[in-house]
Amino acid sequence: MTAAPDVLVVGASAAGLATAEALRRKGHTGGLTLLGDEPHPPYDRPPLSKQVLAGTWQPERARLRTPELLDGLGATFVLGDPAVSLDPVARTVRTASGTVLRADVVVLATGVRPRVLPDQAGLAGVHVLRTLDDAAALRAALLTGGRLVVVGDGVLGAEVAATACGLGLDVTLAGPQRAPLEARLGSLVSGVLADLHRERGVRLRLGAAVAGLAGRDGRVTGVRLDTGEVLPADVVVVALGAIPNTGWLAGSGLRLDDGVVCDARCRAADGIYAAGDVARWHHEGLGGLLRLENRTNATEQAVAVADDILGAGRPYAPVPYFWTDQFDARVQVHGVLAPGASVSVVDGDVAVRRFVALYERDGEAVGVLGWNMPRQARALRQRLLGQLRDFAGSHVEPGKVEEAGFRRAPRSRTDFSEGQR
Ligand SMILES: Cc1cc2nc3c(=O)[nH]c(=O)nc-3n(C[C@H](O)[C@H](O)[C@H](O)COP(=O)(O)OP(=O)(O)OC[C@H]3O[C@@H](n4cnc5c(N)ncnc54)[C@H](O)[C@@H]3O)c2cc1C
Repeated sequence: MTAAPDVLVVGASAAGLATAEALRRKGHTGGLTLLGDEPHPPYDRPPLSKQVLAGTWQPERARLRTPELLDGLGATFVLGDPAVSLDPVARTVRTASGTVLRADVVVLATGVRPRVLPDQAGLAGVHVLRTLDDAAALRAALLTGGRLVVVGDGVLGAEVAATACGLGLDVTLAGPQRAPLEARLGSLVSGVLADLHRERGVRLRLGAAVAGLAGRDGRVTGVRLDTGEVLPADVVVVALGAIPNTGWLAGSGLRLDDGVVCDARCRAADGIYAAGDVARWHHEGLGGLLRLENRTNATEQAVAVADDILGAGRPYAPVPYFWTDQFDARVQVHGVLAPGASVSVVDGDVAVRRFVALYERDGEAVGVLGWNMPRQARALRQRLLGQLRDFAGSHVEPGKVEEAGFRRAPRSRTDFSEGQR
């Protein structure tokens, strides 16, 4: 490889742009190309389910950088042209338009796409929310009013329900858990979240799986539960989690298994890296493969990849972090809220909805959750770093975690952080 390799980043969004910016910031002088399938310049996704959907932000405000800053990057942007194949040995990427791009290093940052219901294709009134265009279409549908059913009781579903409720819609949130996000946050905190949604007027139809959709004349009329019940709907949002965008890499020889499988330095093969939602890398501290769908990881992993490309890399081993905003609650989660962890409130008061909860497994801290108490949650996380345990039960050393670079709180509106959507 030459001293200044040409780098091709596939996926021109949070992780892709952060890779390019980190390379330039750290002195990379080689060629830089960002290839994206969307026609838009890089934009941020967290505001899509919040400010953009609510209409408090014009969509342009979600753009990650101004045109001037993008120009200043000295990169070539190839937009609206999906990558369709990769030759990892020749390091060439072929696009849908037939263009072949060659580089010394290729970074895969193609993110994820929404999981859908088998019967939703071709049924008007059914939406997903991943892109700016999705957000515009969903907002237009919500503005016509009516009954909204959100299918999926995870982070994205709960955020959409909260935002739509704020717009005055009649909202039902459906899903199999007993409370929204129960599997991720445990029963205590998800119970508080359920209360919050109910108080604000969201109908919770939980504890039943969604079997499919009902429709008439090509338009959705309801959501069928496996109990046989049908929830009437004028608009449906399907928020059932996401699938890594690796289809175009089939036949490349890379290991694809719920994402692009990488080593501890986010390398999928010689000269091929992955970053962001699509990357499933070996987290040395936690002792296993990990794929995170959160905004902080998109940036931090991109920086780790840029470091490695420039020869200053080290194993990427962050403390996972995500946040979610629902109504007036900002919930922040540090660490790994292992299933079955015991949960105790260690600061604040659940009754006034300002508290910090500590998650412990076998008597040791594995995660910290702050509900409208960001500073206190972060302070506790710093104190408990040494007790963060890996999936297999051994310990992550505090020095190692700090060294791996868990960074400070977001400083700019574009520097957001996580949440498994
Ligand atoms: C509505 C919503 C709200 C969110 N809210 C939060 C939040 O509150 N907190 C939080 O921490 N996280 C949140 N997230 C998650 C966060 O936005 C993601 O973790 C982050 O966007 C991941 O960045 P990425 O660059 O890896 O992937 P993406 O942002 O998905 O970008 C990947 C890009 O690659 C493109 N692409 C895909 N295939 C190809 C191809 N073959 N060729 C070229 N380009 C391709 C995609 O179209 C996309 O533009 C939210 C996500 C969504 C959708």
